[in-house]
Amino acid sequence: MKLKKGVVGLVAMTLLLSGTGCSQSATYKAGTYTGTGQGKDGPVKVQVTVDKNKIKAVKVLSIQDNKQLAASATKQITKEIVKQQTTKVDVVSGATHSSKGIIEAAKKALKKAGASDAQLNKTAKKQAVKAKSTKTDVVVVGAGAAGTAAALAARQQGVKVVLMEKTASPMGAGTLAGGMFAADSAQQKAAHKTVSKKWLYDKYLDASQGYMNGVLVRRIIDQSGPTVDWLNKNGADMKLVDAGTGGSYAHQGDPATLHGYQKGGTVAIKTLINKFKAEGGKVYFKTPAKKLLTNQHHKVTGVVGTTATGAKITVHAKKVIIATGGYGGNQKMLNRYLGKPNTKGQVLQNKGDGIKMAWSVGAGKEGTDTTHYFWETFTNAGVKKMTQLVGDKYYMLNTFTAYPNLRVNTQGQRFSNETDTTLYARHGAEIAAQPKQTEYVIFDKGMLDKIKAKGTVAIEDQFGKWKHNPQFFMEFNEPSSTKTSIKQENTPVDFAPLLNKLTGTGVVFKSDSIDGLANQMGINQAAFTKSVNQYNGAIKQGKDKLFFANTKRLIKVKQGPYYAVKFVARNLGTLGGVRINDQIQATKTNGTAIPNLYVAGADAGGMYGKIYVDFEGGTLGFAYTSGRLAGLNAAKSIK
Ligand SMILES: Cc1cc2nc3c(=O)[nH]c(=O)nc-3n(C[C@H](O)[C@H](O)[C@H](O)COP(=O)(O)OP(=O)(O)OC[C@H]3O[C@@H](n4cnc5c(N)ncnc54)[C@H](O)[C@@H]3O)c2cc1C
Repeated sequence: MKLKKGVVGLVAMTLLLSGTGCSQSATYKAGTYTGTGQGKDGPVKVQVTVDKNKIKAVKVLSIQDNKQLAASATKQITKEIVKQQTTKVDVVSGATHSSKGIIEAAKKALKKAGASDAQLNKTAKKQAVKAKSTKTDVVVVGAGAAGTAAALAARQQGVKVVLMEKTASPMGAGTLAGGMFAADSAQQKAAHKTVSKKWLYDKYLDASQGYMNGVLVRRIIDQSGPTVDWLNKNGADMKLVDAGTGGSYAHQGDPATLHGYQKGGTVAIKTLINKFKAEGGKVYFKTPAKKLLTNQHHKVTGVVGTTATGAKITVHAKKVIIATGGYGGNQKMLNRYLGKPNTKGQVLQNKGDGIKMAWSVGAGKEGTDTTHYFWETFTNAGVKKMTQLVGDKYYMLNTFTAYPNLRVNTQGQRFSNETDTTLYARHGAEIAAQPKQTEYVIFDKGMLDKIKAKGTVAIEDQFGKWKHNPQFFMEFNEPSSTKTSIKQENTPVDFAPLLNKLTGTGVVFKSDSIDGLANQMGINQAAFTKSVNQYNGAIKQGKDKLFFANTKRLIKVKQGPYYAVKFVARNLGTLGGVRINDQIQATKTNGTAIPNLYVAGADAGGMYGKIYVDFEGGTLGFAYTSGRLAGLNAAKSIK
């Protein structure tokens, strides 16, 4: 699990389609123009080509957002602007920020070409659409990790299956993850690296402090090995890797649980969907489900959604499996169930649709306040300012999240054992518990000098263990390789110029004195000085009376200039909502199963208390395993 994101330097898509909008009213100065907008992770540059009355082509020249999201938004938005002859086009579900960046940039370019506001904002003509109705045995909502596994497993039982997905192509959390945990997989057995089921169960128990569905947890652990074996048989391509290889230094020495994607989550899920289609399954993309159908006996009998053309689609089915990935993209639900402040999840189209649908037919609530706080990230405002100054190089600041530097909150207080900061779930939760969910990582010139001379290996050798035993998997659809990490940690880097450029952005702070640094950060000077003194004192005495940290690993703050980098809690997405049983059936609060309804993956509660587990692959493992079981159980209950 690395703090990394997919950055794409240049995604370009030129389209020369004939427009269908009312181009006769438009007047442009013929030519080619460029404009810039703001994407999720930096500026987006777009080029438009127009003749006197038509937008002829739109091309994205550069975009820094996650590769997959950027590609999806580029393809659809450029095509729609040309087709509709307006910039008033729908954003791509799942790639909202990238879409908005492209639209904003195209607008600016068209303005240069002389377009009026009315032209830019005219509404495209909508074509009349006809409602559709279809019948199947099982309908699955959401083609993420859980839904795809559910659909394929059900289809392989010989029943008819329809899979409905909101986005145009797979882009749920399952496509971004690094891999899944399993116990007793074929690979673990072959490598003699089996993990004890008790160890796994205790991890879930520790994280939940008893607030979990023990029967469900046991079943998921038992079925995780057969699930990864089955996924691999169907082409998912996941391989066992050692614990701690993806950046969680604190996991080193733990049992190997992670079966890491070898070609990335997007390829894996696309492969599984292709297998499903090849075996006779039916997939509807761009088709969000909106509501469950029930009969006069209150039994679930299908799903109603909207197709890509805007038509209503009714899927009558004997069994429904919901797997819409939680509510991390729904600000209202986040405010209500997590409380304020909170951070949005990373998959914005996951808006709790499936959870609300299940509740609407009487399913009980469970785990509604559980979320994936996972390490830290920057504020959106900070990213905007930093990218304007240094492009995507700001991402290098994440280096400072991986070492046991002093951390303080907005009150200037030290708040955790810093040697635990590579425990992603625990440290994510620690930050989320701070005022404004904010932490400052504090370091000094002494640390920068060491990195400049020898690389971060001079601080801690976090990957050398794999020098002769390289490990590899893909997370965020990008390689996570110990070979590369070893090279990186041994490469001297002078961070000072980058930090100097970013001082003043509200993310990086610098001063020659501790008092001065507190002033720059806008935090209480006395409290901050006390924290620095306590921390330095603990290192000197070899004993940390406050948080019991191993003082040998702590990094002194003693030589100016001093620096602080501001981070906020990072939320990958929520992890609960609907009460289920160990057969993955949705249940009422009293435990009675809701007839014909299954809920899998991040829509389902019961695996976690408030935070998720700190071993690798815990949540993706649950998603795939609960999805597969839901598919098998639904299909078997029909036959
Ligand atoms: C960046 C990132 C990295 C991660 N890394 C890891 C990791 O390494 N290991 C790990 O264990 N876990 C990891 N996770 C968590 C893991 O990916 C999720 O727990 C898991 O994917 C959840 O699976 P799911 O099927 O419930 O949701 P998803 O995979 O998100 O799928 C939900 C699907 O439902 C669709 N949908 C939403 N609403 C509707 C609707 N109304 N109609 C139709 N379709 C709809 C969405 O578009 C999406 O395709 C990571 C998560 C993120 C965001």
